[in-house]
Amino acid sequence: MRSASPEDVKKAYRELAKAVHPDRSDDPEAQARFQQIVDAYQVLSDQKKRQAWDTANPVQAAKSAATDAARRIAPGVMEKAAEVVGGVVEGIQRRWSLGQDLRYTVDVSFSEACLGVDKDVAFEAPVRCQDCDGRGQRDGQRCGSCQGEGVVLAQRRFRITIPPGTTAGRLTRIPRGGTPGAKGGPEGDLTFVVAVAPHPLLERDGHDLRCQVVVPITTALAGGWAPVPTLEGTTRIEIPAGVETGQVLRLTARGVPRPKGGRGDLRITVDVELPARVSPEVRRLLEEAERADPEGMVPRSTRYRARWGETND
Ligand SMILES: [Zn+2]
Repeated sequence: MRSASPEDVKKAYRELAKAVHPDRSDDPEAQARFQQIVDAYQVLSDQKKRQAWDTANPVQAAKSAATDAARRIAPGVMEKAAEVVGGVVEGIQRRWSLGQDLRYTVDVSFSEACLGVDKDVAFEAPVRCQDCDGRGQRDGQRCGSCQGEGVVLAQRRFRITIPPGTTAGRLTRIPRGGTPGAKGGPEGDLTFVVAVAPHPLLERDGHDLRCQVVVPITTALAGGWAPVPTLEGTTRIEIPAGVETGQVLRLTARGVPRPKGGRGDLRITVDVELPARVSPEVRRLLEEAERADPEGMVPRSTRYRARWGETND
């Protein structure tokens, strides 16, 4: 085995830095990982510290060189970086590459996102061949299980926990859960993204839910009951007599669960529906009633007309 040249280390560092650069990743640990690699590279590019590389095992030497330096810089943290750098050196010798990141969309209903749910997902994706550990070769022969590719297609299953109050775009990341790299290269990351189907009637407003309920004029006049959607299915709400368009009724604790207990409310905005068509007879009755009792039939219109009269005088 020959040890990696400074050019090899430089090239590997560049590839690795590109792959984990925080600008290209929304992983909160990306910054830390990137810094680890930068630090490890500084150790490896220092000729004096690389003396050990001319030994029989350059991978081990690279690891210990990085680890020794790491202990001084940040004890306990840098072992991982040493492992990465060691892996890169090994990878150069075997010509592997980093695997692809995988992104999988988890579709949930509006209610599931609000109340929380465990979602079982399954999909077919390439995984490392177990028989040759992804090398494509076994005992000097081409691996028959993966036809020398180092990867095989397999059914992958996950249970993704969607906590109550989840919004669209929530990420669950499984480091190294993605596609294996070529020739035994490390896997990319696997990320699950939550997609929330819209509800035909309900809308979220923080932990509260909002909806509109259309009420026939007869119910608005006399009071009654109207069906309203909730996260748990349809329920009924009492409509007080004389309710007006825009009035907000409230079902307490029927909204989205809060992390520390309790739930938001369901706020229902009333929309009183006027008749689209009235018979001449009904119209005549309404007009008669209005003339007889304008304050009772159309109090706001009456007040409005009075004020309008004042401004014109
Ligand atoms: Zn194989």
